[in-house]
Amino acid sequence: MEINVGDIISSKKKHVCGSDRWQVERTGADVKLKCAVCGRIIFVSYDELKKMLKNVSGKDNGTL
Ligand SMILES: [Zn+2]
Repeated sequence: MEINVGDIISSKKKHVCGSDRWQVERTGADVKLKCAVCGRIIFVSYDELKKMLKNVSGKDNGTL
């Protein structure tokens, strides 16, 4: 799995605001995600991200 800053990802679990789409703000050991709807910032570990991730649609599509 490859994710890059600026990618839009979909999560299996919806955020409290009802959105399942997140923008990747920073990658690394911890990944910083911004909710595409309410703008809330969350940090998840790379392992957690792999578990919650459903789909990646961004600049670098097709590597999931
Ligand atoms: Zn949200």
